[in-house]
Amino acid sequence: MGESTLAALVGALFGAVIGSFLNVCIVRLPADQSVVSPPSRCPRCGKPVEWRDNIPVLSWVLLGGKCRGCREPISILYPLVELATAVLWGVMAWRYGLSPEALKGALFGTLLLGIALTDAREYIIPNEFTYGGLAIGLILSAAGGLSAVLAALVGAAVGFGILWLVGVAGRWAFKEEAMGGGDIKMMAMVGSFVGWQGVLLTIFLGAVAGTAIFLPLTLIGKKKLVPFGVFLAIGAAVTYVIGPAIIDWYRRYLGVA
Ligand SMILES: [Zn+2]
Repeated sequence: MGESTLAALVGALFGAVIGSFLNVCIVRLPADQSVVSPPSRCPRCGKPVEWRDNIPVLSWVLLGGKCRGCREPISILYPLVELATAVLWGVMAWRYGLSPEALKGALFGTLLLGIALTDAREYIIPNEFTYGGLAIGLILSAAGGLSAVLAALVGAAVGFGILWLVGVAGRWAFKEEAMGGGDIKMMAMVGSFVGWQGVLLTIFLGAVAGTAIFLPLTLIGKKKLVPFGVFLAIGAAVTYVIGPAIIDWYRRYLGVA
C-alpha cells in the first residue's frame, strides 16, 4: 500500500469518528445541550445506543436505518454526515499527508459542515463552531510563525468587521435584523483560516450563491428566513480550495501582480 493511500485510510477512519461526534454537536448545540452526556439514546423508545450500533456509517446500514429497539427510522443525515466527514479527512490526508496542513483543512471543513447544517435546520450557528473555530484557526496559524498569526488575526477582524457593518447598514435601511450575530462571528472564524482576501472572496461567493438560490424562492413567497451561513460556508469551502488561484488571477487582471 502506498504512503498516501495509507494516510488517506487513517484520515478517513479518524474522520468517520469525528463525523459521528459532529452529529451529536449538530443535534445538541442548537438546543444548548451538553455534547458529552447523557450518551445518545433513541428519541422515541429511549433505548441507549449500544457501542455496536454506534459505528459510523456501518451501523446505520446494518440496522437498515432503524432503531434496534422500536424500529423507529433513523435519519439518513447521520450516516451522510459521517461519510462526508470521513471523505473530507481522507482527502486532506491523501493530499497533504498526516501533517498540520491536512489537519487545518479537515478541521475547517468539519466546522463549515457543522455550521451549514445547524443554520439550515435551526437558523442557529452555535458559538462552539464560531468562537471555538476561531480559537482553532488562531492556534493552527502559529505553525506558520508570527506573520501567519498576524494574517489570521487580520482575517478574523476583517471578517467580523465587514459583516458587522452590513448588519448595522441593514438595520438602518430595512429597520430589521439583516445580519445574524452568528454570521458575524462565523466570518471571524473563517477569516482566521483564509485571511482577509479570502474573507472578501468568501462573502462575494456566499452572496452570489445565496442570491441565485434564495431570490427566486423569496419572490414566489416560499421562503422568508435566509440561512446565510449555509452560503457563507459554501463560499468559504470554495475559497479554501481554489481561493489562492482566484485571487492570483484577479490580481493579474487588475495588473497589480
Ligand atoms: Zn427506539
